[in-house]
Amino acid sequence: MDQKRKQILITFDYELFLGNRSGSIENCLFSPTDQILEVIEKRGAKAIFFVDTTHLLTLKKHAEKYDACSKDLERVSAHIASISKRGHEVFPHLHPHWLDSEYLPQTNEWKLTKTDKYRFYHLTEAERNEVFDGSVELLKKIINPVNPSYQLDGYRAGGWCIQPFSVFEPYFRKHSIKYDFSVLGKFYLFSNAQYFDFSEAPQSSVYKFNSDIVKEESGGAFTELNISSIYISKQTQFLDKVFHKFYYKLTGDHSFNRGEGQIAVKIDPSLVKPQTTGHDILNSSWERVAIELMSQVKLPAYKDFLRQNDYMHFISHPKMLNKHNIRIFDKFLSFATENYQVETDFRKIAG
Ligand SMILES: [Zn+2]
Repeated sequence: MDQKRKQILITFDYELFLGNRSGSIENCLFSPTDQILEVIEKRGAKAIFFVDTTHLLTLKKHAEKYDACSKDLERVSAHIASISKRGHEVFPHLHPHWLDSEYLPQTNEWKLTKTDKYRFYHLTEAERNEVFDGSVELLKKIINPVNPSYQLDGYRAGGWCIQPFSVFEPYFRKHSIKYDFSVLGKFYLFSNAQYFDFSEAPQSSVYKFNSDIVKEESGGAFTELNISSIYISKQTQFLDKVFHKFYYKLTGDHSFNRGEGQIAVKIDPSLVKPQTTGHDILNSSWERVAIELMSQVKLPAYKDFLRQNDYMHFISHPKMLNKHNIRIFDKFLSFATENYQVETDFRKIAG
């Protein structure tokens, strides 16, 4: 019997914590990435890593003064090269407030609480060139030795801040970036740091666009691969909370031991648009599809999602994964590959 086809995009934001305390490259990047890759590769699946290149550019800036930064840059670069060599995609992911980061030499960590430059939109043209061009250049330099013909043609904005797209468009064109993975359809947030409004985004999983990222245009120059979201009932949310509380008590396995990413998000009334539709990301029963949000309690909802949808785009963060999430994702992938013909290569999905 022919199995039904399903498209599953497994994507990661490969980054440290971006608030009070960044955590270390071992705990936030290497260890969780290696654990989750084992699960993914076991099923013959492919993943996409969006590397926070603004972290790498900052390490580069400090490399001469601090030996630890120079070593971190070398080790992270080697890890990214190995991910690419294993056949996964690697694309840039910018968090421009690294420009205002503070280095903590005592612990070899970073503090990123200044958020004036959270959005690419708020940078000067010189700063935009520095972070965008510098990011592409640096990633190419890392990947080229292991993968000389690699096409660096995808992008995901930090904190979903891809609007207005007009400020990104010249950089997409300049660097031949054709695929964007920043839109979390239906969600919005209007804050002093993060700003995005995808409430009017097309419902299609994959669509073409030109200068407005939420306006579908057939024959557009760029392709959007919409991030999926899932409805979690209040009861499941409650049970999940209880489960995680006990799980943490029993095992101590939680990402908050690694770093502190919380930044103060204040809603900026001058940016707020009267909403008729869409989900407030800070307060909704809908949430992004993510490995770090998976648990035994939510697994049935994830399986139902796959039964009902042919496209499922995960956005996850190695820094936030615990052993339980990874185990549940393993179970989920096993369910998916046993019941369906699964495609994880975005180039085939984008068509
Ligand atoms: Zn990010």
